[in-house]
Amino acid sequence: MLIDSHMHIHSSRWYPDHAKWLHAVAEARSTYPFRDPHELLPKYQKMWEDADGRKWSDQYQRLGIDIAVNFPNDFGMAWGEEAAVSVEEMNRSYCELAKKYPGRFYSFIGVDPRRHNAVELLEKGVKEWGAKGLKLLPHTGFYPNDRICYRLYEKCVELGVPVAIHTGYGMALPMKYASPVHLDEPAQDFPELEFIAAHAGCGIGHQWQEMAVVAKFNPNISLDLAEVEATVIKGGYRESKGKYKDHIPAFLDMLDIWRNMLPGGCLNILWATDYPYPSFAGFPLDLIKGWVELFNNLPAVAAEYGYDFSQAEADNMRYKNAARIMKLDLKVGIK
Ligand SMILES: [Zn+2]
Repeated sequence: MLIDSHMHIHSSRWYPDHAKWLHAVAEARSTYPFRDPHELLPKYQKMWEDADGRKWSDQYQRLGIDIAVNFPNDFGMAWGEEAAVSVEEMNRSYCELAKKYPGRFYSFIGVDPRRHNAVELLEKGVKEWGAKGLKLLPHTGFYPNDRICYRLYEKCVELGVPVAIHTGYGMALPMKYASPVHLDEPAQDFPELEFIAAHAGCGIGHQWQEMAVVAKFNPNISLDLAEVEATVIKGGYRESKGKYKDHIPAFLDMLDIWRNMLPGGCLNILWATDYPYPSFAGFPLDLIKGWVELFNNLPAVAAEYGYDFSQAEADNMRYKNAARIMKLDLKVGIK
């Protein structure tokens, strides 16, 4: 059993073009002479179009990932460019996709807390559409300890669902909002609420140490490993075109330090990918394949480098923690 506790499915109608634009710019600047991002944009529009989930379903079956949890992202207020459909419509579409793939696909509700209907949308999403939690993107312009978020945290407590909050990089938006330290205060104010620090401060080379210190005295903060694979697996963000070596020993060291500092050790860490983002080239299947293999064989690979991770610890990170925190029924839809 393997659960991807943080990924995304796209349709051009659900996201402003700016999300794809950022990837087109990164790829355009990845080799010299630089290319024109406008020429690359249609490629991303086509590549990320998966409104019926078919691409995702085929790819995850090939990769051996049993369950995916989708985090809808509400970028509209940050970029001043709303998607073709409303935030409510986007979230409802994701929840309908979950009904199409019962037991294999789940979705959170992604909504900017500054929207007037944020609390109502969260409640409707969980109660009527079956959503499993709330996703927030602070780098769009608010701090997670801002009181505007608290009415959503209160609603999460009432509904019994977790909140996932982006931490780490800013996606060309202000990183200051995404520092892990801003989870400290709400995690103390809402001890009964499960917080998921999405990207765990972004893994090797980013804010993973601050993440560890923030989570140390907040047992209700768990770290998800989405996009961390791009700083661990051979090829990195450039995949097969890159010369980036694997950094599995550095990752194991980071994991070992987290395991030591987090109150629950591996009980506070969730395996995830951030599919389809972690690649300049667009579809990070090589990266994700390496990431799957690493966690499927974690005790043996760790032993090669002198670390001791048990199968029970690996299983907690691979699926048990996500199932517990997000209240997923593992019996549904799984053969
Ligand atoms: Zn993500």
